Amino acid sequence: MTTALVYDPIFLEHLVPQGHPERPQRMEMSIGYLKALNWLERPGLVQLAPRAASIDELTTVHEREYIREVEELSQQAAEADASTGTANSLQLGTDTFVSAKTYEAALKAAGAPLTALDAIMKGEINNAYCLVRPPGHHAVAEAGFGFCIFNNVAVAARYALDHYGLERVMIVDYDVHHGNGTQETFYADPRVLYFSAHQFPFFPGTGETEELGEGAAHGTNINIALPAGSGYEIYEPIFRQVLAPAADRFNPQLILVSAGFDAHWKEAEGHTGVQPGMRLSTAGFAKLNEIIIKLADTLCEGRLIMVQEGGYDLDVVASGVATSINQLLGGVEAVDNYGQAPDIDYQLNTDVVISELRRIHQLTGYRMRNQAKPDREKLLREMKGPVITKTSAPETTHADSDTCCQDKE
Ligand SMILES: [Zn+2]
Repeated sequence: MTTALVYDPIFLEHLVPQGHPERPQRMEMSIGYLKALNWLERPGLVQLAPRAASIDELTTVHEREYIREVEELSQQAAEADASTGTANSLQLGTDTFVSAKTYEAALKAAGAPLTALDAIMKGEINNAYCLVRPPGHHAVAEAGFGFCIFNNVAVAARYALDHYGLERVMIVDYDVHHGNGTQETFYADPRVLYFSAHQFPFFPGTGETEELGEGAAHGTNINIALPAGSGYEIYEPIFRQVLAPAADRFNPQLILVSAGFDAHWKEAEGHTGVQPGMRLSTAGFAKLNEIIIKLADTLCEGRLIMVQEGGYDLDVVASGVATSINQLLGGVEAVDNYGQAPDIDYQLNTDVVISELRRIHQLTGYRMRNQAKPDREKLLREMKGPVITKTSAPETTHADSDTCCQDKE
């Protein structure tokens, strides 16, 4: 098993104003964790320096004029730096900034999953984690938005289709925010299945369950709009009972993950603290990764590229990155210093939510190919994972749930 960590120190040079949550320390802390764990020297892990995405590659998602705008703003910031003697961040959008090195960093952030895909297609690596910033999933064709400059994952999906002639790419996005830019890019493109589980209503305001895709792409956009307070007890069965059969039906040749860790319970105290956030733990993210990795193994010979999106508590991001890389290498342990979310009074009938989602996406009675036989022992062990609040009714992680996909109509 060979896993690539795709990273470049240029990502530290995309500067943002003081107090901005999407800061270079997110990368420093993540690399720091990997060093402290001695994981950069692990057998099977290779480090790849990302190439810059070309303008032609970016224009498969973004307008040429917008790309030029970012380049020019970076030049303006460099000129301001020279004349003021300090580092400047110029505003691109409400919460999105450009410094002297942003353009270069953003080109490499978009190039990172392309570098990973090239190595996968050459058979040099099995999978990859792209530790990049600026993030991407909010960026739309003509604008940067929500800390994002270029839509890294969307550019990678287009590259897989255009350059390698793949016919089906799946993007899984578990960042707490809906990836409006990714949805918009592929809303009418049936070759890309976009699956997003996110808090709703919440920034950026898109991501309703009813947004299903249009034309030939109807059904290839799956939004899981979850209320604040949602945790493992709802995410895990949704990934198993909605994502897994939808992926099986779509039969992707490559899986990309928008890996944002801001649905972690600790994030609710910081960046998203205005209202209650989500309640996943790092161990909870690990369970979701486990499902995704299994899908990649079953459906597309393990071809899987994870790309960094959000996550603003430094320990949360670093734990998520380390845990994901460990799993891509075949490990099972989560690096989880914070532990489980505190119990809250959370009322959501998981069975009802899932059967409604399965109805909307026509997965009722869907029979998965190569479905692993339920391992009862393992399911019982999994139940001892993240805490399920006693008030949530009814108990959701019952052993039968794995077999539901095999039911006859
Ligand atoms: Zn986010």
